[in-house]
Amino acid sequence: MKIARFVYRGRESLGFVVDDEIVPFYEIEGLPAYLSYPFADEDMLESILSIKDLSPYPRISLKNVDLINPIKYPGKIICLGLNYWSHVEESGRDPPSDIILFMKPRTALAGPYEVIKVPKYVRKLDYEGELVVVIGKRGRDIPENDAYKYVFGYTILNDVSARDFQFRDGQWTRGKSFDGFAPIGPWIVTKDEISDPNDLYIRTWLNNELRQDGNTSDMIFKVPEILHRISKVMTLEPGDIISTGTPSGVGIFDKSREKLIKNGDQVRIEIEKIGYIQNKFIFI
Ligand code: MG
Repeated sequence: MKIARFVYRGRESLGFVVDDEIVPFYEIEGLPAYLSYPFADEDMLESILSIKDLSPYPRISLKNVDLINPIKYPGKIICLGLNYWSHVEESGRDPPSDIILFMKPRTALAGPYEVIKVPKYVRKLDYEGELVVVIGKRGRDIPENDAYKYVFGYTILNDVSARDFQFRDGQWTRGKSFDGFAPIGPWIVTKDEISDPNDLYIRTWLNNELRQDGNTSDMIFKVPEILHRISKVMTLEPGDIISTGTPSGVGIFDKSREKLIKNGDQVRIEIEKIGYIQNKFIFI
């Protein structure tokens, strides 16, 4: 199933997306009509997954709602750097022998179709299309062969990066943490719909130009190994988000130097079996 957060007639709620309609949680007994933290509660996640038949409930056309960031307050937003072979190659660096981790603040999150406002003093704005794993179960020292038990679902994230700040600082926090530098969505696809997260096409367009044309099979550390290695360091909790790195084709490594995001540009990221997010960027 696909779970979205949306606004309808001024009211924010969660719902199941079915084709081009949405079944709001508030129509279904036992589900949270409005909760900031439903994804932080394992029991709540189980009740959500226990709903099998959506046919009895009223629906709203997706055209009449605004989809917003599907996870309002994730406990953590963990990101991997240099996790695709093709991206390591274009960056001219050696492949990492272990995962490279950094984190984004939740104030960076933005909706799947939101206009992102960027301060004018950012000079080198770039996109990174990424597959996100949403955690559904608390775990520490998760064994690789058990990792999928801890996954709730998957979604898409643009790991927006101010390359000038990222490279100048020598580490990545500031360059990747501006407000709006983590557009996410359009919904969470539960894991039962994606048999192998390491076999999905992932594509990014800058305006009409296809810039990233990869597959998640190109990841250096695959999803189970990522969960294993992160959970050796920190406890993973329901609602945590892990963004798994980007394939080749980011703007900064294009030789023409003209593929960074400019004022008014649109970035669209599409992942097979999930959908797409598309954000316009405005410099203010
Ligand atoms: Mg990234």
